[in-house]
Amino acid sequence: MAPVHNFNAGPAVLPQAVLAQAQAELLDYQGRGMSILEMSHRSAEYEAINTSAENRFKTLLGLDAADQVLFMQGGASTQFALIPLNFLPAGATADYIVTGAWGLKAVEEARRIGQVHVAADTADANYRSLPDSLALTPGAAYCHLTTNETIQGVQWPTLPALGDTPLIADMSSDILSRPIDAVRYALIYAGAQKNIGPAGVTVVIVQQGFLDHADTRIPAIFRYATFAKNHSLYNTPPVFAVYLLELVLGWITDLGGLEAMSVRNTAKADLIYAAIDRSGGFYHGHAAAPARSLMNITFRLPEPALEKQFVAAAEADGMVGLAGHRSVGGIRASIYNALEPAACAELAAFMDEFARRNG
Ligand code: PMP
Repeated sequence: MAPVHNFNAGPAVLPQAVLAQAQAELLDYQGRGMSILEMSHRSAEYEAINTSAENRFKTLLGLDAADQVLFMQGGASTQFALIPLNFLPAGATADYIVTGAWGLKAVEEARRIGQVHVAADTADANYRSLPDSLALTPGAAYCHLTTNETIQGVQWPTLPALGDTPLIADMSSDILSRPIDAVRYALIYAGAQKNIGPAGVTVVIVQQGFLDHADTRIPAIFRYATFAKNHSLYNTPPVFAVYLLELVLGWITDLGGLEAMSVRNTAKADLIYAAIDRSGGFYHGHAAAPARSLMNITFRLPEPALEKQFVAAAEADGMVGLAGHRSVGGIRASIYNALEPAACAELAAFMDEFARRNG
């Protein structure tokens, strides 16, 4: 079957060049007569992949040499629990800024562990916009936000002012999609399966100075410090996922790094938002314009029945994964790094034609 344009929200599209390389070296990794899947995580081959993946992150994000890049398992959902376990001691408060479904999950999990304060929550606005103001706790242990809400398609274009509170960001759906000011984040985490690789590995970037405050009484396997001390090789890592991630980071680097990703992703998103905006109200974007995501574009059609038709007709034209999240319905076009600009141009043209025929 011919390749499709893959608008899935995650697991999501991977660069064709990366998949082709993985296929080419699957049976015989670098002349070793076996697959990387079959090698020890203590082998020189795997250690080289692990180190290269760490270094590529540091270079792409412009990290400090002392920052730690960790490869963990359990998805971003596990991070929702590990963060307060490590960084929310008894008597302290953590602030959470909730701009969508994932931020809500994060705060619900933290509540089971310690004292939390919701500094802003845009649920009343149906998670369409970003908060106008934040009620921050002076001296909070940390402040958590979600840079891009994957389900609602709401993204912070720039960070809000947070004072001295250490900032923790869930970047699962926009990591490495644009440059960031890494020094502003005490901790960043992201499941890999959207922008940077396959499911199975979760990346955590943590400043050493923040890590020094972590609780040391929790089980070793739950401590970030355990992973940092062992270069993520405390126990068996998800070797194949890290291998693919390292190839994806190479692909991003070869395309020009995060500046180039940002130009590419902005141009892609513009194509689709323009189709929404010129439809005369046939397509109705979920996110308010200043909060529009460059990664997940969410919109409604006049009728749910038309949305079903839209998804089916797009699929017949080779564009898959466009149904909105089951909790909100509508359409969601996820247009992560690896999605080619041509896919967005094709979707925009399809949208014009669908609106013309059904509007
Ligand atoms: N945070 C965000 C922003 C997400 O998009 C997702 C997954 N869609 C998660 C957290 C949960 O990730 P995981 O399934 O890896 O636990």
